[in-house]
Amino acid sequence: MQITRISVFPQTQPLRKPYWLSGGRLKFEQLDSTFVKIETDDGITGWGEGCPWGNTYLPAFGGGVRAAAHLLAPALLGHDPRKVDKINALMDITLPGHLYAKSALDIACWDILGQCAGMPIADLLGGCHPEPTPIASSISTGTPEEMLSLINEYRKKDYKVHSVKIGADPQLDIERIRFLEANRNPGELIFYDLNRAWLPAEAIEVMNSVSNLTVIFEQPCETLDQCLTVRQKTTQPISIDENLVTLDDAQSIIHRRIGEIFNIKIGRVGGLTRARRIRDIAINAGIKFLIMDTGGGVVADTATQHLAQSIPVDMRIGTWLCQELISNDAAPGQGSRNLNGFAKVPDHCAGLGVAPDESLIGEASAVYQ
Ligand code: MG
Repeated sequence: MQITRISVFPQTQPLRKPYWLSGGRLKFEQLDSTFVKIETDDGITGWGEGCPWGNTYLPAFGGGVRAAAHLLAPALLGHDPRKVDKINALMDITLPGHLYAKSALDIACWDILGQCAGMPIADLLGGCHPEPTPIASSISTGTPEEMLSLINEYRKKDYKVHSVKIGADPQLDIERIRFLEANRNPGELIFYDLNRAWLPAEAIEVMNSVSNLTVIFEQPCETLDQCLTVRQKTTQPISIDENLVTLDDAQSIIHRRIGEIFNIKIGRVGGLTRARRIRDIAINAGIKFLIMDTGGGVVADTATQHLAQSIPVDMRIGTWLCQELISNDAAPGQGSRNLNGFAKVPDHCAGLGVAPDESLIGEASAVYQ
């Protein structure tokens, strides 16, 4: 089997509401996503999606996915998409780094591999565990009352896990945590996501002020060294998100005991092939997981569920459906959706189990053949 054509489709994804990252320091109103379609000489077509949230969140941007595809796609023509490690090695030779820009191409290759095997990607990643994954909300920074109001909206959709963005001034953060914990329902989990907003001293002050509460903190500070300082002077579980990019990062977090939870975002780490490697060493280390993508619609969300369900259910804390934040839908009625607060891979699918409706995403901006 050979890749014969790769098409690239940009899509602007308006957010239903403006979104402020932790600390209220960055506002987002729309996402810049990219769909990739890989066609083969066997007539099998695979799809992937890459969306790095916005250009101020990570060292990544939507236009970068398409600019990288201009280099990567010609190099992949003629190669067998089912050989996913070789495909990734070829992408690395063609363009070192730029992992986020490789994710959509990698997902599309897994989609083809699954269709050829007649199996869902989750099975090819090692075996699909049947239990669905709780979906985490994404609660934008605001006053304690505004944030509770947002949580209440997600409760109407049966969400039981909430990713709450804090990180303004430490005293306000302590107020927010105490207020939201006092209003937490039985069976709910709230994790407090800093998106790197605190200095180590601020993180230590806030976390120790609420050390009587059973809560999780995500990515408290900018760097792994700063997070290690926090780890050594606090007791609550720490999830590492933005600093988890490469396999080396994963090894460093494990060996230096910086965090107990990995938030693997498949777009950030470069796709399912690389996410699988990080997953394996984390399972071995007894790390728990949040499995997400950095943004996008139902195609990215569905790829995420395949990775999530390749992990034993007792090691999964939650996932995220970015599709619930955006106002357009590239594949209505298809793919992984919110089912009473849980997400799972599509039933009886071979490959990814979702493909965009091309009439909804418009013309390709580039075709390589
Ligand atoms: Mg996070």
